[in-house]
Amino acid sequence: MRAWKNNLFFMNPAISLQQVSKAYTERANGPHNRGLALEHIHIDIMPGEFFVLLGPSGCGKSTLLRIMSGLDVSYEGSVAFGEEASLSRISFVFQQFALFPWLTVFENVELALIARNVSAEARVEKVKNELKLLGLEKSAHAYPRELSGGMRQRVGIARALVTDPRVIFMDEPFSELDSFTAVQLRKELLDIWQKRRPTVVMVTHIITEAIELADRIAVLTQRPGKIKKTFTNSLPRPRHQRSEPFWRLEDELYETLKQ
Ligand code: ADP
Repeated sequence: MRAWKNNLFFMNPAISLQQVSKAYTERANGPHNRGLALEHIHIDIMPGEFFVLLGPSGCGKSTLLRIMSGLDVSYEGSVAFGEEASLSRISFVFQQFALFPWLTVFENVELALIARNVSAEARVEKVKNELKLLGLEKSAHAYPRELSGGMRQRVGIARALVTDPRVIFMDEPFSELDSFTAVQLRKELLDIWQKRRPTVVMVTHIITEAIELADRIAVLTQRPGKIKKTFTNSLPRPRHQRSEPFWRLEDELYETLKQ
């Protein structure tokens, strides 16, 4: 096992990928997309870590996230999950929010608990708490179509958090939002992560977002995606985009992506 921080030296990874490769054989997106999408990926993600996969569009970030989360099992190599990444302890936040339009905000969040057989009484309390945390109490009985993109993604995050997951997978969760809303939601997500310390694995193509959030950033190459370089980001939080260490790391990441 690799140590990335002294205090985590003796921990087992939450997720460990060894020599993972993935080829698409079907013609889902046209014949030019057949062939290798990921090649020889090796990553250990530690419990409580905020880990970001950064790379250009089409390099295989979402494919890698699906493999890491167990959604996609057709790959070569091995993926091992620690206790915290067991199926009942993981959750997802998607770019497109993925809410059920015929359910209210409350019901959308509650659904995650129904799927886990939580009692009705406990469900009400947990959902109320999570809606409060994300500033959604007043929208509890609204339907997704009545909400702004930012509010919908708050519901997506509340739904992911309500089960108290130990690992959260996020696929470009802020890319559909205006930049002001994205800044605010990133801040709130960080606050919650610092309090509860789940392992977070997030995909993004935005360098500043990666720096603002991540403990470590893995930069992927163009397709077939390989890990080009992994950066440890120990800038103190909150991280200010206008500070010198921030833009230095931004430059380094940009150069690595460009090569
Ligand atoms: P990213 O998330 O970095 O944009 P993806 O993981 O979505 O990249 O896709 C990686 C590559 O695999 C792209 O070239 C994409 O077109 C292709 N791809 C993704 N899903 C499929 C699929 N189901 N069938 C065939 N090709 C796919």
